[in-house]
Amino acid sequence: MKYIPTIGLEIHAELKTKTKMFCDSKNNPAEKKPNINICPVCVAHPGTLPVINKEAVKHILKIGIAIGGNLADFTEFDRKNYFYPDIPKGYQISQYKYPLVSGGNLAGIAITRVHLEEDTARVIHDKENSLIDFNRAGIPLMEMVTEPIIKNAAQAVFFAKELQLLLRTLAVGGANMEKGEMRVEANVSLREVADDSSHFSVPLGTKVEVKNLNSFRAVEHAIDFEIKRQESILKNSEKVIQETRGWNEDKQQTFSQRLKEGSEDYRYFPDPDLPKLQISAIKEFSKENLKKEIPELPREKRERYKNNFGLKIDDANMFVRDPYLAKLFDEIIEKFEKNKELIKLASNYITTDIAGFMKIDKSLDKKLHKNISAKNFTELISMIYENKVSSRGAKNILNEMYERGGDPAKIAEEKNLFQRSDESELKKIVEKIISENERVIKDFKSGKESSLQFLIGQGMKETNCSANPEILKKLFIDFLK
Ligand code: ADP
Ligand code: MG
Repeated sequence: MKYIPTIGLEIHAELKTKTKMFCDSKNNPAEKKPNINICPVCVAHPGTLPVINKEAVKHILKIGIAIGGNLADFTEFDRKNYFYPDIPKGYQISQYKYPLVSGGNLAGIAITRVHLEEDTARVIHDKENSLIDFNRAGIPLMEMVTEPIIKNAAQAVFFAKELQLLLRTLAVGGANMEKGEMRVEANVSLREVADDSSHFSVPLGTKVEVKNLNSFRAVEHAIDFEIKRQESILKNSEKVIQETRGWNEDKQQTFSQRLKEGSEDYRYFPDPDLPKLQISAIKEFSKENLKKEIPELPREKRERYKNNFGLKIDDANMFVRDPYLAKLFDEIIEKFEKNKELIKLASNYITTDIAGFMKIDKSLDKKLHKNISAKNFTELISMIYENKVSSRGAKNILNEMYERGGDPAKIAEEKNLFQRSDESELKKIVEKIISENERVIKDFKSGKESSLQFLIGQGMKETNCSANPEILKKLFIDFLK
């Protein structure tokens, strides 16, 4: 028997807005002091009424456009009823029958729906008490649901990272998993298929939902664990139970939390306190208006880098995932659009030298970001391209820029790193080196090619790496002929 995994994801992400989803309390999930950003609406005092936050609706519509989904024209909010202290009204306002977005595709994965709901309060249990912080209650929350078509943990992680990047690009959310701004639930099932048969005709197996995945690593490990666990159940001819499981980070195991409730348990019904929305009747929700506010998307940027500038897919991914690198590269492109050679040179410097700084720069407010601006980087690359500095000199300048910041031309001036190509000037140096290295000259004349490299090296040393090595080479050969 073969066991073929299937994964579908449900991802929640807090949306960045000024105020909460249905009231004007401040939306600040980072607030440390409990129960500061609350009001009678978000703590559910009787008689209060919710008001829809247009900014949050716009955020979801923009996400819908970015994934090529269908934007609803008619939409409404529903009450999802359940009893738990994190939900003060006794129900969560969500969307059931008419999500704002249906369909679409992200990172090659088909999307089922994207809807808008409200976040819950935070419940903190200590030894004696359970404490509730309502700062988070009512913060607008996106839920994105994928079709059950993801094949493995790596693909699930790739998808989640792509969504994070999209939310950040659209400036609709921070999507920081460690801060709980983005939370992943993974539905995992296995199909049991005879070794020699194709699995296409075999229906999906019973799924298990794993909740509370708070990092990309947890997503990966939990899915892998769950695949192994279910496989051993099926191998023992037992049945997988449909349930919700949690993830124990310390033990690196999933554990049973509760038997899965069906949607009928929630008694969904349209919230009578909120108006239905006719999206086309609201001018600021029009596609044309929203499109104007959507910047270049990650997949568009990736294609542009690949197709127009010949970047390898891994390099394109690296630039697209890091706004700082993309900014460096875009500044170069803007200035030197026609000069493919210079652009190639710049991308090499980014993938080697700048990436090297990133490895050693662990500070949060990146020294790299502070010290090497796109403008200065562009200037340095054009200095290298025009042979004003040698590649060795460029490395010195770049190090200086990284350590202290500053303009590369000024640094080159101060450190005497402008490449010297003046033949009459370099001739004197060549003569001096020749007079000091009789043995090497002899070796060279008797055919030892490497001696020439040594002599050029001496010339570079003598000039603090500022001589143009090509010119030195020419002068040595001329002299020794
Ligand atoms: P429910 O009604 O239990 O919430 P849904 O059909 O709404 O189930 O699907 C919820 C999530 O579970 C979706 O991401 C979907 O892709 C995924 N899913 C559904 N069935 C399976 C399955 N058999 N195996 C893996 N994932 C599944
Ligand atoms: Mg569901």
